Amino acid sequence: MAQALAIPTSESAIPASIPLREVLPWAVFAGVILLSLLYLVGMDQGATSVFSGSMIHEFVHDGRHLLGFPCH
Ligand SMILES: [Zn+2]
Repeated sequence: MAQALAIPTSESAIPASIPLREVLPWAVFAGVILLSLLYLVGMDQGATSVFSGSMIHEFVHDGRHLLGFPCH
């Protein structure tokens, strides 16, 4: 019962440091995923299209207009 009423000390208020070498791979992974999504929403049409057809363009069409990418 005494543990439930414990007041945090100044040592527990200090956030744990995360080494850069542990964060860097996840940051690169997130960057690749986000850039891929940005490409699919914003630029996958016409001559730069990776996938043929207009399925991706039509699927992300509203998102393209919402983000202000030129469309039609
Ligand atoms: Zn449009």
